[in-house]
Amino acid sequence: LRTKLPRVGTTIFAVMSQLAAEHGAVNLGQGFPDFDVPSRLVDALARAMRDGHNQYAPMTGLPVLREAIADKTARCYGYRPDPAAEITVTSGASEAIFDAIHAVVRPGDEVIVLDPCYDCYEPAIDLAGGVAVHVPLDPQTFAPDWELIRRAVSPKTRMLMTNTPHNPSGAMFDAGDIQQLADLLRGTDIVLLSDEVYEHIVYDGRRHESVLRYPELRERAFVISSFGKTYHCTGWKVGYCVAPPSLSAEFRKVHQYNTFCTFTPAQAAFAEMIADEPEHYETLGAFYQPKRDRFREQLLTTRLKPLPVPGGYFQLVDYSEVSDLDDAAFCRWLTVEHGVVAIPLSPFYGSPPVGQRLARLCFAKNEATLDAAIERLGRL
Ligand code: PMP
Ligand code: GLN
Repeated sequence: LRTKLPRVGTTIFAVMSQLAAEHGAVNLGQGFPDFDVPSRLVDALARAMRDGHNQYAPMTGLPVLREAIADKTARCYGYRPDPAAEITVTSGASEAIFDAIHAVVRPGDEVIVLDPCYDCYEPAIDLAGGVAVHVPLDPQTFAPDWELIRRAVSPKTRMLMTNTPHNPSGAMFDAGDIQQLADLLRGTDIVLLSDEVYEHIVYDGRRHESVLRYPELRERAFVISSFGKTYHCTGWKVGYCVAPPSLSAEFRKVHQYNTFCTFTPAQAAFAEMIADEPEHYETLGAFYQPKRDRFREQLLTTRLKPLPVPGGYFQLVDYSEVSDLDDAAFCRWLTVEHGVVAIPLSPFYGSPPVGQRLARLCFAKNEATLDAAIERLGRL
């Protein structure tokens, strides 16, 4: 069999969650909340099903949801995309990322990704026949080095992928990064894919620099988000893509033959939620901040060193004081011997930095879960 993704194995999230189950370990690996979805959202979903929202939705998404997304975007970023031409609802951000790449990347095109990056980017580029060009973020701060990125641009560059707040580090672009990004892309035909799934999980009063705030950038961008992160329901798999009409038209050509449409009852439920509780977005950072702060304080009592977390719900820890194993071996050892699951960083790189001793812990968890993990980590 001539396979298409010879270098790809099973995603680290599936591997580590399986290992967690086998060893009864506390799972701070795969990023998902272990607390309840807002009961109002569950009620809205049940009602949507009872009220007959059970057949195919329109290919681009329920109109009422696209209107709600447009309103929410206007409220958050001062720009209202056209729901008819610029918003497409997808089966999670993962589908949107796949569709956007397949909409514009042709065989031989180069796509610049900033390492470490989320693990679904490169396989989607490979399947489109493109070539991922890996540019490292700063190994300490995970900030982009715009000069390095500029040097990676070639006549074949078709797309640049960015992610803020960043998985796995939580680093966020600031206004200076946006300026550099605009300077870099100006005068080129490079398309931007801005992965903003953690857009509302930001701390310490920081502002999420959405590409949607900036006309010059949004006119060449696919901006992708996910309701899974925002409403604590990663298993519902509903996301969306905002892009100008010409890019959305191409995006929809892929989406319509990939999934055609997304789970209808959830679309109705999200539309209702957004309309009824528009302030949910602004309160998400305040909801997570005490979890982050408490978890970080507890980590300081262990031999793991927590790195700063400006956004998102992942905590990177430096484990070099505990072990000299490489990150994959360390995370396996931590699960099997100590009953805590973390995610190694190496799967997020084209070529992982030699000697890096970092692992990712998810703190989107109940206090009891985090306490149980800390108790075990305290014994390292
Ligand atoms: N991008 C990033 C950076 C993510 O962390 C995730 C998922 N956790 C996704 C995309 C995919 O989101 P979804 O679950 O909505 O497909
Ligand atoms: N995005 C989640 C994470 O980074 C995992 C999603 C998945 O399992 N594919 O942990």
